Amino acid sequence: MRMAVIGAGWAGLSAAVHACQAGHAVHVFEMAHHAGGRARSTMGNAGSRDNGQHILIGAYAETLALMRLVGAEPDRLLRRSALALCYPDGSGLTLPAGHPVPAFVRGVLRARHWTWRERLALLGEALRWRLSGFRGDDAATVADLCAKLPPAVLRDLVEPLCLAALNTPMDKASAQVFLRVLKDALFAGPGAADLLLPCAPLSALLADPATSWLSRSGATLSLGHRVQSLTSAGHGWAVDGLRFDAVVLASTAREAARLIQPISSSWSADAFSLRYEPIVTVWLRAPGLKCRQAMTALRFDAARPAQFVFDLGALGGARGTFAFVVSGAADALQQGLSATSAAVRAQAEAAFPGHFLDSACVVDARAERRATFACTPGLRRPAGHIARGLAAAGDHVLGPYPATLEGAVRSGINAVALASNA
Ligand SMILES: Cc1cc2nc3c(=O)[nH]c(=O)nc-3n(C[C@H](O)[C@H](O)[C@H](O)COP(=O)(O)OP(=O)(O)OC[C@H]3O[C@@H](n4cnc5c(N)ncnc54)[C@H](O)[C@@H]3O)c2cc1C
Repeated sequence: MRMAVIGAGWAGLSAAVHACQAGHAVHVFEMAHHAGGRARSTMGNAGSRDNGQHILIGAYAETLALMRLVGAEPDRLLRRSALALCYPDGSGLTLPAGHPVPAFVRGVLRARHWTWRERLALLGEALRWRLSGFRGDDAATVADLCAKLPPAVLRDLVEPLCLAALNTPMDKASAQVFLRVLKDALFAGPGAADLLLPCAPLSALLADPATSWLSRSGATLSLGHRVQSLTSAGHGWAVDGLRFDAVVLASTAREAARLIQPISSSWSADAFSLRYEPIVTVWLRAPGLKCRQAMTALRFDAARPAQFVFDLGALGGARGTFAFVVSGAADALQQGLSATSAAVRAQAEAAFPGHFLDSACVVDARAERRATFACTPGLRRPAGHIARGLAAAGDHVLGPYPATLEGAVRSGINAVALASNA
C-alpha cells in the first residue's frame, strides 16, 4: 500500500516505522522542520534543551521495542532505577526490586515517615483496588477514589503521582485511568515500575534514530510540510493532492479536528472538544546543589509550584544544572513565566537549605500550553478508526492510558493495523 503518515511525533514515527515493516510504501508529512513533536530537543536561549523533562517507566514495552527496532539502545540512553518518590530530606517511598506486590508492601512498610495507621491504610486501599481488578467508577476523580486515605499519603504519594502520570490535579483527574496506570506500572511484571530517565537529549531516544531508519528503509520524509487538506479520492485518499491507499493521521488533536471536519464531523468534534493541561519546566544552574537522586520529589503548593526536580548532571547533562517541573501548571501559567521561575528558585532555596543556592540562577524556562489533554472522568476521546483506510494516531486517541509516550507509540501501531485493513 501507499501509506501517508501525517505528523512525525512519537505516534507518527511509530506508525511510519511499523508501516515500513509491514511492507507499505510510506510518506511522512511533518509540519515542523524536525521530527519528535512534543518529545524532542529544541534550541533555546541557552543552547539545546529538551522540550520538557520526560520520564519513562519499565512498563513502556512498545516504546522500548520501537527504540531497539530503530537502533536506539534503551540500556545506554535511559538510566534505570527502582521507582523512588523521595523528598530532599530522604523521606518518601522507594519500591525495592523483585515481584511488584511484595515490593510494594515492603516499600510501604519501610516508609517510616508515615505512621503505622497511614501505612496500613495505603496497603488496605491498594488491596481493595487490586481485588476490584483496578476498575473504578467512570465518573469518579482520583480525589474521590482516595477519599479514605490519610492526608499525609495523599500529599506525599497520590497527588504527585497523579500529576506526574496524568498531568491533571487529583480533584479533576480520572480515577479509572489512574487505576489503569497503577495496574500496569506498580502491579505488573518485575521492572514495570522502574524509572527510566533519559541520559541523552530527547531527540536521540527516537526522533533522530527513527528518521534515519525511515530514510534507510526507503520512506519519504517531507519535513516543514503542514498538510492542508485530506480528501477522499476513489478507493483511497488525497493528502494535499497526492494519492494514497491509506492514511494515518498522527497530527495534534486540533489539527486532526480541522483536517477531518469535512469527512466526519462527529470525530472532529470529539478531537476538538479535548481540554489541555500545561507543563512548565524551569532550568536552574546551581553548582552548590546536591541531590540524593537524579529525580527528587518536592513539597508543592501555589507558592512552591514545582513537584519534581531532575539533576541533569547525574543524567549525562551539564553538571550543576537542574530541571524543575511544574505539571498541571494552569495556575502557574496565569502568574506568568518569570514569576513562576522566581517562585521555583525560591522553592529550591527553601527545599535544599545549606546548599549555597545564593549563586543559583534561572537559565531557561518553557511553558508547553497544550502539553497533554486534561485526563478527566468520562472523557470522550476520538477513536482510532475514522473511515475505511483512514485511522488516527496520537496520545489523544481513545486508549487506556493518559497522554504518554507509550500511549502515542501504541496508537501508532494500532492505526497502521486499522488503516491497512482497507
Ligand atoms: C513538557 C512535557 C513533558 C512531558 N512529560 C512526559 C513524561 O514524562 N512521560 C511521558 O510518557 N509523556 C510525557 N509527555 C507527553 C508526551 O510528550 C506526549 O504524549 C507525546 O510526545 C505525544 O506524541 P504524539 O505523536 O501523539 O503527538 P505530538 O508530539 O504532538 O506530534 C504531533 C506532530 O504532528 C505535527 N503536525 C501537526 N499538524 C500537522 C499537519 N497539519 N501536517 C503535518 N504535521 C502536523 C506536529 O508538528 C507534531 O510533530 C510530556 C509532554 C510535554 C509537553
